[in-house]
Amino acid sequence: MRSTMQDAPLLIRDIVRHGQWMYADKQVFTATPTGVVQASFATVAERAQRLAAALTALGVRRDDRVATLMWNNQAHMEAYLAVPSMGAILHTLNVRLFADQLAYIINHAEDRVIIVDASLVPLLARIKDRIPGVAHFIVNGPIDEAPFDVLDYQALVSENEPGDHWPDLEETDAAVMCYTSGTTGDPKGVVYSHRSIWLHSLASTSANSIALSDRDRCLLVVPMFHVAAWGAVYTAFMAGSELIMPQMFLQGEPLLEMMTQLRPTTALGVPTIWNDVLRAAGGRSDVDLSSLRMILAGGAAVPRFMIEAFRERHGVDVLQGWGMTETSPLVAVSMPPAGVSPEHEIDYRVKAGRVMAGVQIRITDEDGAVLAADGVATGEFELRGPWITASYFGVDAPELFRDGWLRTGDIGTLDPHGFMVITDRAKDMIKSGGEWISSMELEATVMGHDGVFEAAVIAVADDRWQERPLCVVVRTPDSTVSAEELRAFIGPSVAKWWVPEHWSFVEAIPKTSVGKFDKRALRRLLAEGQLEVETLG
Ligand code: ADP
Repeated sequence: MRSTMQDAPLLIRDIVRHGQWMYADKQVFTATPTGVVQASFATVAERAQRLAAALTALGVRRDDRVATLMWNNQAHMEAYLAVPSMGAILHTLNVRLFADQLAYIINHAEDRVIIVDASLVPLLARIKDRIPGVAHFIVNGPIDEAPFDVLDYQALVSENEPGDHWPDLEETDAAVMCYTSGTTGDPKGVVYSHRSIWLHSLASTSANSIALSDRDRCLLVVPMFHVAAWGAVYTAFMAGSELIMPQMFLQGEPLLEMMTQLRPTTALGVPTIWNDVLRAAGGRSDVDLSSLRMILAGGAAVPRFMIEAFRERHGVDVLQGWGMTETSPLVAVSMPPAGVSPEHEIDYRVKAGRVMAGVQIRITDEDGAVLAADGVATGEFELRGPWITASYFGVDAPELFRDGWLRTGDIGTLDPHGFMVITDRAKDMIKSGGEWISSMELEATVMGHDGVFEAAVIAVADDRWQERPLCVVVRTPDSTVSAEELRAFIGPSVAKWWVPEHWSFVEAIPKTSVGKFDKRALRRLLAEGQLEVETLG
C-alpha cells in the first residue's frame, strides 16, 4: 500500500526559501582586513538569486559544474545557495592544494566556471593554461591587474535582477561535489545530492547531535572547501543559525578576537586549530569564551587534555564529531548520554561519538566477517545510509566498498550503545612484534604533557619488531622537556611495549590542507633523513 503523503522532493532551494523567509533578519558576519562586514539572510538569499541569474546569462545549465576557490566568506555562501538551487553543481576547490592537483581536479570534475577570491587569483594563474574547459572566471574582490580574462563578482551580482531561478529538480540530483584531500592516493570526487544534504542538515539540527538552531551563532572555522563546510551552511540556513566567516584568518589570535567581539555560541573546526586557540589564550586574562555552548572538534582525534582544558580554563564543552568526505561528513557526535554524571561526561566526549539516526554502522574483521558491537572486538568501521557515498565520481574503487557498505579505513570498537572508539587509521597503525600500537592514542597521551604543543607518531622500520613508533614533538615556547621526561610521563598511561624509544623534536609538524597532521609528509622527511631522531636506550 502507498502512503497518503505528498511526494515533495527535498531540494536545497527550499532550504534557501525557508531561511530567506523565516530567518530574514539573521546575520552572516565576514572578517575582512578592514573589519567585520555583515549581511542578513534575506540579503544573502537575494544575492544568491542574482548570482543564479548571472550564471544563467553566462550559459550555465543544469548539471554544469560551477567551482569555487574561496575562503570562508559571504560570497562563498551565496554560491553555496545559488548553484545547487539553479540545478547546477557546486564544486568546492581546496585552496591549499598544489597547482598540479588543482588542475587535475578541475579537469576531472569538468568545471565550466570558477568563482575565485581575488587573493587566490595568482594560484589559478599558474594553471590557467592547463584548464581549457573552464569558460569563465569570476573574481570576488578587487584586483590590480587580471592575468587573464575575468568577470567581476560584485558587478555581476548587482547588475542582475533576483527573480525566481530555482527550477523543479529531482531530490537525488547532484548538488555539490567535493574531492577527498588525497592523503590516501589520488583525490577522488564525492557527489552529494539535494536529498543527502537535506537529511544531513536535519540530522545536524537534532538535539542528539550538534543541535544547531535559531539560538545559535556559529563560528565556521572549518574551511568551506572541506566536506561542504561540514554541512554547516545549509544547516544554518535551515535552522536560522547565524554564521561567522573567518575568511583566511584561521590562527589562534584572530579567532580569539572574533570570539570576543562577535560572541559565537558554537564553533566548528579541526583539533589542531582548537589547540592553537588554547595556546593563544594561554597567558591572557582578557579572554572570555563564555558565549560558547560548545565547540565541535572533528576530522581527527580530539585529545582528552584539550577537552579538559577548554572546560577547566574557559568553561566550554567540546563535542567530538566523526566523519569523512565520503560521509557528508557527520556520522557520529560524542554527546554524552542522559543521566551520565558530570565527572563521567569526559569518558564519552573522548570517544569519536554515537552514530546519528539514519546511518547504519558495523565493524568487520580482515575477512569481512561482522564483529560484535561489544566495545571490545576491534575491526574496520563500515557504513550505509542516505548521506554515505555509494561510489566515486568517474573512477572505480571497488576495494573501498563491501556489499553496498562503505569501508572507512578507520579501525576501532563499537559499544552496545553505538559509540565509536577509533583506535587508528588502518594505515597509521604501527605493527610491533605482531601486535598493533595506536599512533593516535600515543599522540593524545604525549600531548597531555604541559611542555608539549603537538605530537605526531609514525612507524619506523625495525629489524627485530618489524616496526616501532617514532614520536615527533613540538615543544611549547618555554619548554625544554626531554625524550626521557616524556617517556617517564607516558609510562603509567600506556602498555610498556608501546612506549616509543625514538623521539624527534621539531619546530612544526607538517599539516594537510585542512590542518590535520600530515603523516605522509612526516614519513617522507624521515626517509629523506631530514628528521633528527634521538633513540633512547
Ligand atoms: P583525509 O583522508 O584527507 O583526512 P577526510 O577529511 O575525509 O580526508 O578525513 C576523514 C578521516 O578523518 C576519517 O577516516 C578519520 O580517519 C579521520 N577522523 C575524522 N574524525 C575523527 C575523529 N573524531 N577521531 C579520529 N579520527 C577522525
